[in-house]
Amino acid sequence: MADIYVFLGPPGVGKGTLGDLFCAETGAIHVSTGQLLRDEMAKHSEIGIQVKDLIAKGELISDDVVAAMVTNRLGEKDIQSKGCLLDGFPRTTHQADMLDSILTETGNRLAAVLLIEADRDMLISRLTSRRVCSNQACGAIYNINSQRPAKEGICDRCGSKLVQRSDDSESTAIERLHVYDVQTAPLIAYYTASGQLVRTQSRDVDAKENYQALKTALA
Ligand code: ATP
Ligand code: MG
Repeated sequence: MADIYVFLGPPGVGKGTLGDLFCAETGAIHVSTGQLLRDEMAKHSEIGIQVKDLIAKGELISDDVVAAMVTNRLGEKDIQSKGCLLDGFPRTTHQADMLDSILTETGNRLAAVLLIEADRDMLISRLTSRRVCSNQACGAIYNINSQRPAKEGICDRCGSKLVQRSDDSESTAIERLHVYDVQTAPLIAYYTASGQLVRTQSRDVDAKENYQALKTALA
């Protein structure tokens, strides 16, 4: 039975960046539903084609489609031995109920739900200045203000071109924050009630410093 951690928080709060640091240290596998969906879009699979417009608009994908992806991934062997960090799932209370069944089905347990919070203005500026590696297999995350690559526009890790995500424009970022408030924020009360919620603050400092705060919160 493996430990599953959930990182919950608004878009741009650093779930991806802090999740990478968490997984590098603990050996857990980083499962980002946003990344799984972007992989499908890059492959032009049936799911990829189906979700493209919704993602570009900043809307959520149906609970069933995302839950099916998570069920498949959590059932794989590597997760059974290493555990996993779920980044971007659950995102609705219905998905949280679905997660309970998925955990039972795949023989895993929820270790903690970490809520990462941040100042709203910072989120918009972080999202619009974010750049990501165009190599899907790499997926490194940068920021043109705070986490620049050594060579402008080029990934430090793999040398591929950096690009802006289609949903990181200012108007879509604002819509995603609105979607978070309406559809995802109710999970805060949900996991507070179940006694599984742990909180940490993401500040305008180096990611490593925010990561230390995260570790203290989880300890
Ligand atoms: P960030 O990457 O900054 O954490 P985010 O949380 O908005 O921001 P992703 O998690 O990468 O971004 O998700 C991108 C998009 O993928 C979402 O806007 C949504 O359309 C879709 N998506 C990802 N996870 C889910 C989910 N659990 N349920 C429904 N849609 C999802
Ligand atoms: Mg993310």
